[in-house]
Amino acid sequence: MRIAIVGGGIVGLTTALSLARLGFTPTVYEAVRKPLPLGVGINVLPHAVRELTELGLLDKLLAIGVSIESLVYRMADGCAVWQEGRGLSGGYDWPQVAVHRGHLQMLLLAEVQAALGSEAVRFGHALAGLRLGDRVAQLDFVERESGAPRGTVEADLVIGTDGIHSAVRRQFYPQEGIPKWSGVSLFRGTTVLPRGQVGALMHWTGHSRQKFAGYPISINPENGEILFNWICDLKTAEAGSTPREDWNHSVDRAPLLPRYENWRWPGIDVPSIVAAGGDVFEFPMVDRDPLPRWTHGRVTLAGDAAHPMYPIGSNGATQGILDARSVAFHLATAPDIDEALARYEAERREATSRIVLTNRAHGPDKVLEIAAARAPDPATDLDAVFPMAERAQIAQDYKLIAGFDPVLLRQRRSYTP
Ligand SMILES: Cc1cc2nc3c(=O)[nH]c(=O)nc-3n(C[C@H](O)[C@H](O)[C@H](O)COP(=O)(O)OP(=O)(O)OC[C@H]3O[C@@H](n4cnc5c(N)ncnc54)[C@H](O)[C@@H]3O)c2cc1C
Repeated sequence: MRIAIVGGGIVGLTTALSLARLGFTPTVYEAVRKPLPLGVGINVLPHAVRELTELGLLDKLLAIGVSIESLVYRMADGCAVWQEGRGLSGGYDWPQVAVHRGHLQMLLLAEVQAALGSEAVRFGHALAGLRLGDRVAQLDFVERESGAPRGTVEADLVIGTDGIHSAVRRQFYPQEGIPKWSGVSLFRGTTVLPRGQVGALMHWTGHSRQKFAGYPISINPENGEILFNWICDLKTAEAGSTPREDWNHSVDRAPLLPRYENWRWPGIDVPSIVAAGGDVFEFPMVDRDPLPRWTHGRVTLAGDAAHPMYPIGSNGATQGILDARSVAFHLATAPDIDEALARYEAERREATSRIVLTNRAHGPDKVLEIAAARAPDPATDLDAVFPMAERAQIAQDYKLIAGFDPVLLRQRRSYTP
């Protein structure tokens, strides 16, 4: 079977590796000419770490990332709202790993090339045209910068993993336009912190108009220094405004500092962390509406191309990794390609649509919204206005929606046939 995967990000490469492990020989077509470890931190939740474990990557993943042990939500004054164990400490069979996005991408690339050969990932191939035939599809590629043709390829199956600006998706939904912006800008960066300054903790503080999130993504094995990933969320425009969007758009950090002047609590001094960091990248909090259909003939979608979501609840890369494993599993076990794609879409489309919509309503960060609304005065007794049981229910509901309740996850069928 000739399988073309369009886009060599985390999801495209995980799809290729999952297929390779099951005896398929897909080819990945990636627009960029040279692989570079771009981006900053992402979290891979236990349900996706389970999949990377089944691909044989757990030790390598742990070597480049940090196993996160707990998550703490605080109000802007430092008052803790909710804390829970994560990964093994949270009762899972698999860890939660925070990692540099680019380093995970490079790890996956090396694994795909080791499994399928260096020609399995064709760089400098941007999809420019897609034609559906009867049981085949033809793909036209160009070099993105010059527009020079890079040839036409015929495939029995196309999997579009080309991200939030997917050309594959646009083919079927040409009227959709640009992603939808919440009006919140994410200012992201990393800062090196001395050994032991922060634990293996995720910090989430504030509310949707002004938030700080941070977690370690690597620890230097020689001196114990911590690479700490952070995000300052600020409401900068009305919802529905036109966003600027470029992962490599670096901005001045100075305007951030006064906004976070008093944001300090044990181990975390936000102004110092932001001031001492490397480049700051601005990115709008965007998503797209859930789609009524992913599969058209022999073409389907996965990852951000299928269900871009707000980076709330740490599910972006995680859900894409699940898509990758699901589509490979069904291709290996269904009687034919069409049935495999139908099973894949039945399993993943509505499940991920629910997460997109839940994240629009603040996902698990809803505890912060409610705390800020009911206890605007630091003197308020939070327990009296926001009972702990209600907070626990919000955390649990999100786990059920996003598929990472520890008990259900343990019981879920494996994607290794
Ligand atoms: C450069 C970059 C940096 C990022 N940094 C972060 C970050 O710091 N933190 C975070 O949480 N998330 C980040 N993300 C998003 C995150 O990687 C995704 O949300 C998640 O991992 C899902 O990945 P994906 O593979 O579906 O999409 P993506 O990671 O967006 O990968 C899509 C891939 O498709 C390629 N592509 C796009 N159009 C075409 C085309 N026409 N033809 C061929 N190839 C194409 C892109 O070059 C890219 O490699 C980043 C994405 C990118 C592309």
